[in-house]
Amino acid sequence: MKKASDHVAELMDSFEKVCKSKGLRITHQRTEIFRMLIQNPNHPTTEDIFNQVRKHLSTISLDTVYRTIGTFEEYGLIRKVHHIDNATRFDHNLSIHHHLVCTQCGKIEDFYWPYFDRMKPPKSISRWGEIDLKHVVIDGICSSCSKKDI
Ligand SMILES: [Zn+2]
Ligand SMILES: [Zn+2]
Repeated sequence: MKKASDHVAELMDSFEKVCKSKGLRITHQRTEIFRMLIQNPNHPTTEDIFNQVRKHLSTISLDTVYRTIGTFEEYGLIRKVHHIDNATRFDHNLSIHHHLVCTQCGKIEDFYWPYFDRMKPPKSISRWGEIDLKHVVIDGICSSCSKKDI
């Protein structure tokens, strides 16, 4: 089992590699914002990231965080996720995965479903248009929320 810190280091390495290969300048602010995205497993909003990163970089503005996250998205380093509250959240996990959404606490967790990924979509979809991403969202109450009710 790998340590969480190793995982972060690995993701930061690949972040730097992608930046270099795509000609995106690696600045301290960008590095810190990306690190916060990685360390927040809850598919954070821009405001969430701003509040976290502000603890390390007290002079950073919300506007800078917005712009930086927009740049990350443009360069394919993260992906937008819209699930609840119409809030735009961001996902640094670019591998094929799906989402479990707790309708009570709003936590979004990743899960993997290789069987689904291999399934062919129904024929009617080809008449509708082209598929970019097959993605499953499961809504429910997470176990820590359901425990609170007891
Ligand atoms: Zn919950
Ligand atoms: Zn995800």
